Amino acid sequence: MSGARLAIDGGEPVRTRLLPYGRQSIDEADIAAVVDVLRSDWLTTGPKVEAFERAFAEVTGARHAVAVCNGTAALHACMHAAKVGPEHEVIVPAMTFAASSNAAIYQGATPIFADVDPATLLVDPADVERKLTARTRAVVAVDYAGQPCDYDALQALCERRGITLITDACHALGGSHRGRPVGSFVQLSAFSLHPVKHITTGEGGVITTNDDALAAGMRVFRNHGITTDHRQREQQGSWFYEMVDLGWNYRLNDLQCALGITQLAKLRGWVERRRELASMYDAAFRGVPHVAPLAKRPEVEHAYHLYVVRIDYAALCVTRKEVFAALRAEGLGINVHYVPVHLHPYYRRKFGYGPGLCPNAEAAYEQILSLPMFPTMTDADLRDVVAAVQKVLSAYAR
Ligand SMILES: *Cc1c(COP(=O)(O)O)cnc(C)c1O
Repeated sequence: MSGARLAIDGGEPVRTRLLPYGRQSIDEADIAAVVDVLRSDWLTTGPKVEAFERAFAEVTGARHAVAVCNGTAALHACMHAAKVGPEHEVIVPAMTFAASSNAAIYQGATPIFADVDPATLLVDPADVERKLTARTRAVVAVDYAGQPCDYDALQALCERRGITLITDACHALGGSHRGRPVGSFVQLSAFSLHPVKHITTGEGGVITTNDDALAAGMRVFRNHGITTDHRQREQQGSWFYEMVDLGWNYRLNDLQCALGITQLAKLRGWVERRRELASMYDAAFRGVPHVAPLAKRPEVEHAYHLYVVRIDYAALCVTRKEVFAALRAEGLGINVHYVPVHLHPYYRRKFGYGPGLCPNAEAAYEQILSLPMFPTMTDADLRDVVAAVQKVLSAYAR
């Protein structure tokens, strides 16, 4: 035993105000942009939607960006664009947020879970290959924590088998693979604009694609399956519209898109700051026993939505639950991303899944911890995180 008394045992906490694991940054330019829309003629599906989509396509290097109401709707639109139906299977990594596989179920398909590489927690292409069947229609690659997957292997595999590759890029806006931005090189990429993500519109999502027909289809899909929107009809002086497919109301409105435009202008600097924080964390944990940051692939530029470490609880005299509570008491808003999806009660009940299906994801789940990571975090905030982790772990070290 060494060091100061833990806050959980009545000692002085490292921080008195909780440092969250992620949070949005809103400035006066963001606020002014939203207020301008409130004073304008269009609150929903007006000029800001197109402008935001153009800006998003430019930043990601994609031909098209289609704005929708959240990242989950973006994934659903991808499944629809890939023509996923009840006769199909969709391969999804076990280590992700449930929305990645829920989207396949919305289309009536069966999600099949692939295991992850224990060093990076990115989907293992070899396990994807093992799980392919004649019914496989799509593969979802999740750029976990903001690190692009092994797209060399995944693209080759999907092309060879005629399967659609979808990127769940909800963690990875601003990342790149072999110099190509995430969103520019896979058939369909889904992004989230939730407040903990890289940029926010409150709630929001975007799909990027280079395929003209897929983009047009997703614009219809987000608007009830109707081929024109209200503004287009107004401009054409026409009342006539046709519903050509079953769609949803998944629109993102002009208030949100105005915010998206001003947020997007700050993306580059924010991602740089995330990388800077990550390298400070890497340096600080080098040589700290029982704490291991995830591995980084050499061919990627990481976008660091999350900074995840693995803690070897077995080597300490303590459970994950105790360390989690102790770190919270020290003022760290730490989190765990994620409970492997196949272990959720719904997935066990509906598909008969359970422990043993994806051993690497299950073992990782027992050890992972997401530390605070957001661009307005200061160097002093980061030092607090490192100090609290060291304080707690050294208190429990054998
Ligand atoms: C945030 C997130 C989603 C869902 O996005 P929402 O905008 O919250 O619907 C999907 N997949 C992953 C990996 C995410 O992190």
